[in-house]
Amino acid sequence: MEVAYSQEVTPDPGANAELAQANAELARLAATDGLTGVANRRFFQEALAVETARARRYGGHPSLIMFDIDHFKAINDRHGHHAGDRVLVEVVRRVRDHLRASDYLARWGGEEFMILVTDCDQGTAMNLAERFRLLIAATPLDEISPVTASFGAATYDPAESDEDWLRRVDGALYAAKAAGRNRICLGDRRVP
Ligand code: GH3
Ligand code: MG
Ligand code: MG
Repeated sequence: MEVAYSQEVTPDPGANAELAQANAELARLAATDGLTGVANRRFFQEALAVETARARRYGGHPSLIMFDIDHFKAINDRHGHHAGDRVLVEVVRRVRDHLRASDYLARWGGEEFMILVTDCDQGTAMNLAERFRLLIAATPLDEISPVTASFGAATYDPAESDEDWLRRVDGALYAAKAAGRNRICLGDRRVP
């Protein structure tokens, strides 16, 4: 019987390192929003699942802060889509500069962003959201002025699901819009 010898492959450490680097770059791109450079929704949801699991096991108070730029469609209509893009990039820059390395910021969709602050009770979350609100509203953005955003905040309750927590912060943001925009609403949890 003839024995088939496998073809010998000469190891090439240089090629392996290049491949590893290319894979890491692909993974980074898959987790990032192309316009603003922050995490995308999928990455954020995975991080959120890790943080809620951690909070259930070890305690701690992660909080969500969600915000949505007010009347963004009007900004696009008045100044053009490129100006709208610049607003998104600048708003992200302002907020990102005030986060800690352990916090997460993601583009949730269009002109909607989500922040997860890993250890932050309800009062601190409201204060932080107020700081972000002012960072956006207080300084004009070139000729596009004023730019404001509405905020929801919600502190995690270990008895709720990740989806319920997300729904709660979304409801709070909706309430901030309904109450007149450029403000923050707290997504209170009614304990049965
Ligand atoms: P509200 O205060 O209720 O949030 O009103 P709005 O106009 O901000 O909200 P609406 O949902 O009516 O419009 C959002 C707009 O955001 C519509 C969409 O074209 C625009 N948009 C979504 N993604 C981008 C983007 O990447 N760049 C730009 N320039 N515009 C975007
Ligand atoms: Mg909006
Ligand atoms: Mg929106």
